[in-house]
Amino acid sequence: MDARVIQPNAPRILPPLNDLNRPFWTGGANGELLIMRCEQCRRWVHPPAPRCDACSGDLQPEPASGRGTLFTYTVNAQPFHPDVPPPYVIAIVELNEQTDLRLPANIVHCDPDALSCGMAVRVLFEPHGEIFVPVFEPDERSVA
Ligand SMILES: [Zn+2]
Repeated sequence: MDARVIQPNAPRILPPLNDLNRPFWTGGANGELLIMRCEQCRRWVHPPAPRCDACSGDLQPEPASGRGTLFTYTVNAQPFHPDVPPPYVIAIVELNEQTDLRLPANIVHCDPDALSCGMAVRVLFEPHGEIFVPVFEPDERSVA
């Protein structure tokens, strides 16, 4: 995976870490987007859960490719918080690993007007201390 780390341009409200979500939020330190995967049926499960929602099997974090498509998105133009200047893109990204494997994320390095549903994106990580927030950028090289 050719994931990169980018410097945050604004503070973030960070998630509280727990044993379940720690791999997801800290895997970026190693350039890995760690998603829970079932050891029995191999289904990917996100958000992190104690058991597989399909077969109740044990889940273990595995690195996903970090590549996906823009499932849907909105461009926020409202300055809700003084530290987070608009406009910014709030998206649901569907990872290439599985059709229903989706996560909310910001899209960066893009003109919001140039986005379209179904376009290829790839992960980057924005470090905030121990937490590496996954964000996505348009992936021009991919044929998603
Ligand atoms: Zn399973």
